[in-house]
Parts: sequence; C-alpha cells; structure tokens
Amino acid sequence: MDDITTNTTPLQVEAPSSHDVFASDAIRTDSNTSVQQRMQPEDTIGFCLECGRLVRRDERAQCVNGHPLQAVMGAQVVAPDVEPPELPRFNWAAFFMPPIWGAAHGIYFAGLVVIPLWLFLDSAIQAAVYKVGAGTPLLSRIIVYTVTVLLIAGTLGLMTWFGRTAWGVAWRREYVDGTSTRPFDEFVKREKRWYWLCMPLFFLLLGGAIAYWKYYLPPII
Ligand SMILES: [Zn+2]
Repeated sequence: MDDITTNTTPLQVEAPSSHDVFASDAIRTDSNTSVQQRMQPEDTIGFCLECGRLVRRDERAQCVNGHPLQAVMGAQVVAPDVEPPELPRFNWAAFFMPPIWGAAHGIYFAGLVVIPLWLFLDSAIQAAVYKVGAGTPLLSRIIVYTVTVLLIAGTLGLMTWFGRTAWGVAWRREYVDGTSTRPFDEFVKREKRWYWLCMPLFFLLLGGAIAYWKYYLPPII
C-alpha cells in the first residue's frame, strides 16, 4: 500500500469524493430491471487526474496508463470495445462565471475567490486612472500600474484555470459512483446549457461596470 499512500495528488478542483468508487464492491442497480449487479472496474471509465482525461480502468480499478486507483475518479459504464469519449477542452461557463458555475457544481470557493478579485480589480483600475497622474512620483506610478496589470493577469489566469478544469469536475459530479446512466452526449449537451446563462451574464456585468464608469464616475482628466 506504500506506493498508494505516498502518491501525491496534483493540484485539482475538489469534486465530491469519488475516488473510492471501487474501494469496496461497487453495486449498480439496473434502472430498467432493478437488478443489482456488481460493477466490474474494467467495464468502466473514470477521470484520471494524472492523464487529465477520461480513461478506461483496468480490473484493479486503476488507470490503464499505470496511474493508481486514487488518481482515477468517478465511473461510467462503457462497453469494453468502445474508446472513452473525449471531454470538451474548455468550459466557457466556468471561465466567464466561476461564482455561478461553481456554486451549481459544488465548487463554492470559486465565487469566494473570484468575486473579491473582480471588485479589487475594479478598485485597482480606478486607482490607476484617477489617483495617478503626471504629478505622481514615478515609483508610485510604477507600483500602481504593475499591481493593476498583475491583477488583470492573475484574474484571467484563474478564470482560465476554472475553464480548463471544469469539464473534468462536471463529469466527476455526474458519474460520481457509476450509477448515472445518462449518455455522455446528453451530459455534454446539458452542461453546455450553462453557457447560455453564464456568458450573457458576464457581459451584462461588464456592461454595467462600463456604464457605471461612464455615467457615474467623474470624467478622466
Ligand atoms: Zn492516467
């Protein structure tokens, strides 16, 4: 067991605990016949954190690419001769609206991190525009501009990270224990409905911020 307990897990978004799907016998109830059967790991796919994608499990429930059980999360029954489907690379809903998408997927810290960053960014831009002028010492100007640029880059970086990891999180949430029989295509289609809420909402908020700047804040000297 040493090789498993000392294994370090890479940086990840915490999905509902699902790494122990096959820690004991995984029982699956057929939704049509109500017959209970033991789920065979090799009949399933999981999300491998090391591979960063969906992989088939072997009979010991490990990733077929040699990664341990702990690295593979969730389970979906997929016929042995069928290749694991590929998740879309980038989730635009999670990128544009981490607070909304995150809350809907159990990732509440997304909002706790991103909302203060957005507000802080707004203040930083205001400081850069209004508080710093030709009369400000060069060093102060450099500090304000550098902080603003770093904040913009950091915020975009974090949003991009959410966008890149979101599909894996959503998949693990849907196929957490192998009992979901929802077809993969339907899962993707259903998830993409968040795009229609999150993308317009982002631009609405951005528009609101721009309007506030334009109509309520004093003109830039
Ligand atoms: Zn793997």
